[in-house]
Amino acid sequence: MPAYDPDNIFAKILRGEIPAHTVYEDDHTLAFMDVMPQGEGHTLVIPKAPARGLLDAEPESLAALIRSVQVVGRAVTAAFDAEGLTIFQYNEPAGGQTVFHLHVHIIPRREGVPLKR
Ligand code: IMP
Repeated sequence: MPAYDPDNIFAKILRGEIPAHTVYEDDHTLAFMDVMPQGEGHTLVIPKAPARGLLDAEPESLAALIRSVQVVGRAVTAAFDAEGLTIFQYNEPAGGQTVFHLHVHIIPRREGVPLKR
């Protein structure tokens, strides 16, 4: 696996170098809206600690990340009156990853409304 690149776009968001629509933050994680949403309310949750993907993340960072996924999942469910949630996470180009800072996608869902793309 390649080394973590501190110039990836989510690292720049964490450093405040580029803007993001932040919806949740705590000591260990940040959540913001996806710029190309696959559905209404598509949100990304990232650890603040550098990690390229799931496989190189520290266990403490992963624990904080999944806690925040639950917090944000509950919040978007309420905010978008969702009937369900789609949650996914990609690793490496072969796995579909395009931004190389660990992130979890959360998309609120309603019956009969397909994802875009
Ligand atoms: P993945 O790496 O394929 O899991 O997806 C990266 C996600 O980041 C995509 O859904 C993009 O739309 C999203 N994305 C890329 N740049 C930005 C940004 O600057 N702000 C918010 N989301 C972004």
